Amino acid sequence: MPNRKKTTLGVIHVTATPPGWSGGVSGLRKIHMAQGWSDIGYNAVLGQSGHVYVGRGYDAVGAHVAGFNSIALGLAMIGGVDAQGRPDFETVRHLLPALASAMSFFDKRYPGIRWCGHRDLSPDRNGNGIIEPFEHLKACPVFDVIPWAESKGFAVADIRGTWKPVVLEAGTAPVLEGPDTRDAYLQRLLTRAGFVLGPIDGIIGEKTKAATRAFQSSVGLKQTGTLDATTVARLRGLFEVNQAA
Ligand SMILES: [Zn+2]
Repeated sequence: MPNRKKTTLGVIHVTATPPGWSGGVSGLRKIHMAQGWSDIGYNAVLGQSGHVYVGRGYDAVGAHVAGFNSIALGLAMIGGVDAQGRPDFETVRHLLPALASAMSFFDKRYPGIRWCGHRDLSPDRNGNGIIEPFEHLKACPVFDVIPWAESKGFAVADIRGTWKPVVLEAGTAPVLEGPDTRDAYLQRLLTRAGFVLGPIDGIIGEKTKAATRAFQSSVGLKQTGTLDATTVARLRGLFEVNQAA
């Protein structure tokens, strides 16, 4: 399992398992693998007792949030739904102090990490082929992480500020582009434009520069290998669709 090369986002989830469920990490792994994934999607799991368990591995590229796995730690609280499967914050409210402790631990491990909830990013399948786990609970993680985390002194992702939804291809759901994810986003566009560059890791290295030069060549731009404003505009123009107001 490859490791993330950088970790700029911490994404909070709930497992959407029913009250009293006691399968633990091994149970989650089974559920995720039954969906065809290679391992549990989350990097870390917070049990109902408040104990933190290793999921896929803290540093591994997880499978928990479409489009952001290469730069995001996924931390899931066990719970999140009532016996009828409806989103229920009361199932995880008591875990918030333990969640804050876990986030402090990861703050030290990943300097610069900024926190948000799954639903702040892309809770729905967007059909872009990037692996994500089974839950797809639109309400995940059943509370508003950003104001809560901010009140506890954590750095939070700038979701509602400079992030904006973009439609990559006609007929697909919008995905969010933001400052934390811009490089990974541009790599996705290059890949989708047919320029293979290796793993989408959010790091502009030699492979990304080579793919950028190839793209620039294909559209008649100077081959600088740099994702400058003109190149980005041309690249985005391939995919982004003007949405009707
Ligand atoms: Zn989630």
